Amino acid sequence: SLPVVALVGRPNVGKSTLFNWLTQSRDALVADYPGLTRDRHYGRCRRGAREFLVVDTGGVADTVEAVDQAALRQVEQALEEADLILFLVDAREGLTAADEDIAARLRRLDKPVVLVINKIDGEDPALAAAEFSVLGFAEPVMIAAAHGRGTAKLLARIEALL
Ligand code: GDP
Ligand code: MG
Repeated sequence: SLPVVALVGRPNVGKSTLFNWLTQSRDALVADYPGLTRDRHYGRCRRGAREFLVVDTGGVADTVEAVDQAALRQVEQALEEADLILFLVDAREGLTAADEDIAARLRRLDKPVVLVINKIDGEDPALAAAEFSVLGFAEPVMIAAAHGRGTAKLLARIEALL
């Protein structure tokens, strides 16, 4: 079966934007992968040399009206089944307490995590890297998902880790 890459991050950092870029469609449905929930938050990425599945964990949580226990459990399940996690943060907003909470959770998972600093358009990459370095993830990848900037480098990094 295909490797699974999970997108995680607080609301509004650009998870769905990156999901759409990777899968090239909101409707890239996944129907034939046993063990994975069948919903529109899973898609296939065929952009690079290696095909993989992408799950937008924010999308999973958004299917439940409030952020309740069921939604959190679904996010946890998505993280458990992931082979690689992309942890998105927002260069425009800067570091937040929610980012630190998520980072602490991801460290306990003991899975490969790539810190992805999104919305780098109009921001100073060196300053952004310095600000988010306190999260403790080496070699962040800087992207502007809305503009496709940095995404080829991100794909290469994903492929190297799968
Ligand atoms: P999610 O809540 O994490 O899924 O975030 P979304 O993908 O819905 O994006 C939230 C907002 O950020 C939207 O208004 C996007 O257009 C915007 N956004 C996403 N990526 C970028 C980017 O690279 N640069 C800028 N400036 N805005 C972005
Ligand atoms: Mg979203």
